[in-house]
Amino acid sequence: MRKLRIIRIVLATFFLLAVTACFLDFTGTAAKWFGWTVKIQLMPAALALSLAAVAILVATLLFGRIYCSVVCPLGILQDIAIFLRRKKFPFGRDAFPRVRMVVRLAIAIVFFAGGFLGLHFTWLEPYAIYGRMATGLAAPLVRLGNNHLAAWAERHGSYAFHVVEVVAPPLCLVILSAALLVLILALAVWKGRFWCNTVCPVGTVLGCLSKVSLLKPKIDLAKCVKCGMCERACKAQSIDIGSGTIDRTTCVACFSCGAVCKKGALTWSR
Ligand code: SF4
Ligand code: SF4
Ligand code: SF4
Repeated sequence: MRKLRIIRIVLATFFLLAVTACFLDFTGTAAKWFGWTVKIQLMPAALALSLAAVAILVATLLFGRIYCSVVCPLGILQDIAIFLRRKKFPFGRDAFPRVRMVVRLAIAIVFFAGGFLGLHFTWLEPYAIYGRMATGLAAPLVRLGNNHLAAWAERHGSYAFHVVEVVAPPLCLVILSAALLVLILALAVWKGRFWCNTVCPVGTVLGCLSKVSLLKPKIDLAKCVKCGMCERACKAQSIDIGSGTIDRTTCVACFSCGAVCKKGALTWSR
């Protein structure tokens, strides 16, 4: 699975940069080239009744939650925090899986029922959260940086850059976005994909689908020496090496477990 993991990381990096560029680029160039990466974000696609939403659900039924490990910018942002943590996770699966499952289902029911009733809890929707972080926190800084660059270039006789208007976002948006960013990143450093597997309603739906996915991570007990390396590499705490099982509802299809297994005991198969 090492090659699959590398492909995943390359694709995830591309999606994160492309979606972020669409939010931050004020020239419209990024939207022209990479606008499609925004159109295949699950909730916007579902609300637009786009075929992309169906494609994502079918992909989840086939391969598990690859959307969460490749396409969703909020998930990839957490992966960066997890990578920078530079420590393995403790042994053992989540101590309270049932409590977590009840919490996830309750949040998902409130989120989707609210949507039908016209109450849009957009601070729970991953793409909206990421968009607010990008536009509320990073976009004004990018514009300020551009203006400084334009002034500097002009002093040196170049007019390659243009000064653009910097619109200060509402203070409450900045505070809420910053607080949520810190919270999600802190949770990622502490417990990996905790936000994804406890709070995110989109993750809960995809988790239910991936429970019956065609391909899934599997432990070959005949080859496994129970070294626990996969368990400690799993950012979703999905692996219980004691029982040799993997919780497919929380697995985000990152392929890290297979990449660390030196015995070839972890496969992605039917
Ligand atoms: S669970 Fe939600 S936030 Fe996490 S990667 Fe999936 S869609 Fe994104
Ligand atoms: S890393 Fe491989 S050998 Fe070690 S516990 Fe996991 S599946 Fe078994
Ligand atoms: S079991 Fe864990 S490490 Fe393996 S693919 Fe799933 S989330 Fe990644």
